Amino acid sequence: MATVLDIAKHNPNAATLAVSDAARVAGFVEKKAELNVVAGAAPGGASLVGLTRDQLKDSLSQIGVPERDLKMRVAQLWHWIYFRGAKDFAEMTNVGKELRARLAAAYTLARPQVVSEQVSKDGTRKWLIRMASTGPLDKGAEIECVYIPEVDRGTLCVSSQVGCTLTCSFCHTGTQRLVRNLTSAEIVAQLIVARDSIGDWPHATPPEGAFVPTDGSRFVSNIMFMGMGEPLYNTDNVIAAIDVMSDGEGLTLSRRRITVSTSGVVPQMERLGSEANTMLAISLHAVRDELRDDLVPINRKYDIEQLLDACRAYPGLSNARRITFEYVMLKGVNDSDADARQLVRLLKGIPAKINLIPFNPWPGSKYECSDWERIERFSEIVFRAGYASPVRTPRGRDILAACGQLKSETEKLRARARMMAEQGIGAEGVYAVGNGE
Ligand code: SF4
Repeated sequence: MATVLDIAKHNPNAATLAVSDAARVAGFVEKKAELNVVAGAAPGGASLVGLTRDQLKDSLSQIGVPERDLKMRVAQLWHWIYFRGAKDFAEMTNVGKELRARLAAAYTLARPQVVSEQVSKDGTRKWLIRMASTGPLDKGAEIECVYIPEVDRGTLCVSSQVGCTLTCSFCHTGTQRLVRNLTSAEIVAQLIVARDSIGDWPHATPPEGAFVPTDGSRFVSNIMFMGMGEPLYNTDNVIAAIDVMSDGEGLTLSRRRITVSTSGVVPQMERLGSEANTMLAISLHAVRDELRDDLVPINRKYDIEQLLDACRAYPGLSNARRITFEYVMLKGVNDSDADARQLVRLLKGIPAKINLIPFNPWPGSKYECSDWERIERFSEIVFRAGYASPVRTPRGRDILAACGQLKSETEKLRARARMMAEQGIGAEGVYAVGNGE
């Protein structure tokens, strides 16, 4: 979904197109096209980057590595790919020459292609990433990924689907149909791309002038599944990706620093908690079913009561592991004192934090952002009831770091590319005609 503000997927923020365009004109935005193209759909075989341990094992088996050596070889590759960020098999000095040659003949260490990178004046980075082609009719699905640096942490907002099947009325991504689920490797690859780009590997350095944490933590220290798509409609791949990201011998992200945000896919929530053991965020946005039915239509299937019951049952829930409830502030829609008081009543007994998100309209949206005084009043009511209720500071507004808005640009590119193709000018950019279309 959409926003960028501080990370938001199921958040609607984000700057308007007008703001973004103005920022670009004013020179606030560094935009690079086709940079960092480490590989993309590189020739020479499938990439091993993003694979799980089992998948790596299969890949090694396929090139004849004996069963007795598989565990040791997987450990070696794991270390080079996920701990050191190797981009070439030649770097793997503790792997014999002959095996390195066999690996290089059959596979690559290609990353997905970075189509563009935008850097906000506040240090937020947004990448448009093109996944490898899945077949002759697919030029590679494009997704967005956003990096939000702070002094003591760096949060990467990743996507789990290309598009979204849900149609949350405040979310621009929701106006675009689902193309397909991302594989676990494609989800992990977003983290690899980010680490490549900001120099977050041993012996690497960040780009000149880049804003990265300065307290000694990893440049990417937190992951939010808040990019495009509903993660719990792609649960298998999301959980597999989290396993790779949190592996202590590789990427080493703490599961407590990984947050999965759902619009409310109730049947998958218990599984997420018990198998992935991550933090949970809920796109709540309304405290009455008739309103939430409109704002977050999955509510018609799993209403607020069912959703909050699932929250109360979320494995590992405690004061130290609170659920974050996202609440977008929509003028005259969900922002009254009565709404705030009802929110407090609903969350009673749930260790929770409430993120209030000022809405930034996108072209065609039917909502306005609540007035600042209203947001403060709402926050005050929630705060007095004992809940932390921070109002999110927008991040990356000048680069449209809002997920929904990025997808919109992608759609425009696609339309333009099709038009050009029809006119015989070239087919650049025609992508994603894979699984879902
Ligand atoms: S579930 Fe889909 S439509 Fe709803 S907020 Fe998330 S990305 Fe947007």
